[in-house]
Amino acid sequence: MIKYKPDYNLLAATKYVVNGEKREGPMDVEKIFGENTFGLEEMQSRLPKSVFKSIIATIEHGEVIDAGIADTVALAMKEWAVERGATHFTHWFQPLTGSTAEKHDSFITPNKGGGAIAQFSGTDLIQGEPDASSFPSGGLRATFEARGYTAWDPTSPAFIIENKKGSYLAIPTAFASWTGVALDHKIPLLRSMEALDKQARRVLELFDVKGVTKVMSTVGCEQEYFLIDEEYFYRRPDLMSTGRTVLGAKPPRGQQLDDHYFGSIPDRVLTCMLEAEKELYRLGVPVKTRHNEVAPSQYEIAPIFETSNIAADHQQLTMHILQRVARHHGLVCLLHEKPFAGINGSGKHNNWSIGTSNGMNLLEPGDNPHDNMQFLFFCTAVIRAVYKHQDLLRLSVASAGNDHRLGANEAPPAIMSVFLGDQLEDVFEQLTKGPAKSSKQAGLLGLGVPSLPDIPLHAGDRNRTSPFAFTGNKFEFRAVGSAQTVSFVNAVLNTIVAESLDEMAGMLEKKLDGKRGIKNLEAAVGDVLRSVIKQSKKIIFGGDNYADSWHEEAEKRGLLNLKTTVDALAKLNDSKNVKLFKKYGVLSPTEVESRFEIWFEQYVMRLLIEAETTLTMARTMVLPAAVHYFTEMSEAVASGTRLKIKNTGLRKAAGDLGKLIEDLQSAIVKLDKASSSISDGHIDTQALYCRDKVLPAMQLVRAACDKLELVVAESSWPLPTYREMLFVK
Ligand code: ADP
Ligand code: MG
Repeated sequence: MIKYKPDYNLLAATKYVVNGEKREGPMDVEKIFGENTFGLEEMQSRLPKSVFKSIIATIEHGEVIDAGIADTVALAMKEWAVERGATHFTHWFQPLTGSTAEKHDSFITPNKGGGAIAQFSGTDLIQGEPDASSFPSGGLRATFEARGYTAWDPTSPAFIIENKKGSYLAIPTAFASWTGVALDHKIPLLRSMEALDKQARRVLELFDVKGVTKVMSTVGCEQEYFLIDEEYFYRRPDLMSTGRTVLGAKPPRGQQLDDHYFGSIPDRVLTCMLEAEKELYRLGVPVKTRHNEVAPSQYEIAPIFETSNIAADHQQLTMHILQRVARHHGLVCLLHEKPFAGINGSGKHNNWSIGTSNGMNLLEPGDNPHDNMQFLFFCTAVIRAVYKHQDLLRLSVASAGNDHRLGANEAPPAIMSVFLGDQLEDVFEQLTKGPAKSSKQAGLLGLGVPSLPDIPLHAGDRNRTSPFAFTGNKFEFRAVGSAQTVSFVNAVLNTIVAESLDEMAGMLEKKLDGKRGIKNLEAAVGDVLRSVIKQSKKIIFGGDNYADSWHEEAEKRGLLNLKTTVDALAKLNDSKNVKLFKKYGVLSPTEVESRFEIWFEQYVMRLLIEAETTLTMARTMVLPAAVHYFTEMSEAVASGTRLKIKNTGLRKAAGDLGKLIEDLQSAIVKLDKASSSISDGHIDTQALYCRDKVLPAMQLVRAACDKLELVVAESSWPLPTYREMLFVK
């Protein structure tokens, strides 16, 4: 794990030398990096050697935490936190709502003398008991046993959250019921990492690789977001309660000019980014790149990759800090997948690979035949996994917000496919055709193995339209939504690849039949890869994923096209998936069932809130403005007639406006009816109803409002427009 510590020097861009004199920029990243985390260095300096060793055994080798050391760790952690001004602590966890939750407790305990002392015991550290009844459980806990508990995750460092008036210690924890049922996102992720570790090490053993004590998935997420002026945010009830604009006409100048992408960053925004990055550095989040995105006022931030559990925690922190810091600059950070219709939405590219304790990246093509054989084996396992479990990958990114994005011409479609790049695709093509002809083109790495083809040194080409692309030494899953946690996405990836490795290792063991030696291995691996690729190659696609022809082609290939959240979520409790999660110990059937309930429920709740918001805004803001303007116009028409001034044009305009108002009125009635007549049926039926009845009705109201926005006097329009929100910086 230490191997994956980011290279801090990369981040220290603000240190420079002038005429041999060392100067520092506004922040010394090396110095501040991780200063607000209780990381390994801090632990090492504060803990007795034996205790530190025991912690390392847990963090690096996955050994069960020794409860006997908890008091010692707690004491050191508390001292460290109090030195930094912390007065409270909280267990920080990820309930199934997809955000993070905390409940603060003070360190202060009264003592006998009537004073108070700061106290924090091993029990406080290891276990907490938030009131779990208010977190969604999908029927897992009847109210009488509404208790859940949080348990310290020593593999993710505790950290301090500060504000001007004080600070508190946050301890990453898992959240489960007393019966041991996972109520959060972290537990399945940790379990899936175990499954992947086990199967990957089994494969490495077959390849006779020595010195690997642990294998883990690595993740780096590129986060897209919008920043808009706070004042506009407060004047938009839809942004405040749903995170997106449910109304709003497209501005005359949208993103057509493409002049924002990679353009220079406006000053206020840059200041905000710098502060957010500084906070993230102090929290040990290795953010590295920032730039403008495609849409106006859209930006991106990306870290250096880390072990997936840490990366997932850091992803949550990144979203949290972006939102907090934006406020310091009079800005609001919008993380929704589609804040503005007709303008590109936001995604989160989940870069994923598999790394070993001794620093290997198992998805990196090697520089000798043996390593390449191993690379092909792992790469094939991923391809097979995506093919077999298209449904799971699709549903791992399903949400009401992401439905606006997937399948539109800006994000990958809802159809899952794998992009390999021409050269690698050719390698796999050759594989299926039997022993490769070993055509040694320039830039190809000779495998020197008759049964295996050559590997390109760099899969340099890119395909921005692919939902799941191999990008040289990792896979990039591009369908993830900007607002979502990446925990479940990576739990799915780890689990499905663990299954592939398990199956393929089984095949390899059978072929080898106890025989050793490189020749036998080569022949056996060749056979296994050939048969697996033959079965899964339908998932490989290098063309334009946005084209209609791909949709037809994918259908011919029999690939799934789960267009909406409702279609995708319905697959979660298919017996294939229930069995898979059970077999690899990632989710029990009950845990799958609860997630099925909760995620459908969230979809329904979101849609109903959106419908309610649309209705209220249409009724109390748009309609009155339109009627007001209509009255003015009608009065003008009346005066024109009275004074015998020609008014045919105005009369027509008033008539048109009257018609638009009628349209709006009838759309309002329809939406009201649709959203208030939702049945008491099962939650998935309700979700279907929301998708098919409520959403289209909302769309109608929106269309009517947006038409009005283009004709009603700007001075009486009650809402900030797209032009204002997107272009005022
Ligand atoms: P892009 O061309 O998409 O900008 P980058 O090389 O800048 O690609 O990386 C994008 C993200 O991928 C970064 O967050 C980076 O840390 C991450 N990444 C790079 N290597 C790996 C890896 N082995 N495992 C997981 N993520 C990785
Ligand atoms: Mg990328």
